[in-house]
Amino acid sequence: MKDCIFCKIANGEIPSATLYEDEKFRVILDLGPATRGHALILPKAHYENLYELPDELAGEAMVLGKKVITEMKKILNCDGYNVVQNNGEAAGQTVFHFHMHLIPRMDGDKAGISWTPGTLTPEDKEEILSKFSLK
Ligand code: AMP
Ligand code: ZN
Repeated sequence: MKDCIFCKIANGEIPSATLYEDEKFRVILDLGPATRGHALILPKAHYENLYELPDELAGEAMVLGKKVITEMKKILNCDGYNVVQNNGEAAGQTVFHFHMHLIPRMDGDKAGISWTPGTLTPEDKEEILSKFSLK
């Protein structure tokens, strides 16, 4: 897509710190990493978010993420990993080309990927369970 920075990076029009590339994906180091080794999986085709991503590519992105993490863990010797994927401005998405964050974690790091747990109220539980119906 014209004027999409991740389309340009994924397709090699803009240089990037590329860890891996195949016909469908490019994996790059994030320019503003949450932690050392923070990587992004970018499909070469433009899909704005997970809702639009075809099922096959969604599955492949996760499998690729697993491979990248497995290799990166050997290099960084990290203690944990976050896989983060933001959809929509409200969820923190800033680049509207689907991408998956792979964020290495070290014990005691200050990456701050967390939330304050609320409470599952009986009303929410009842309403959501009664309305939710996966086909
Ligand atoms: P999100 O907030 O989920 O949309 O994530 C966008 C991510 O893209 C952020 O972590 C940015 O640091 C990263 N980013 C933005 N522009 C570039 C770029 N040109 N090269 C590498 N990473 C980028
Ligand atoms: Zn794009």
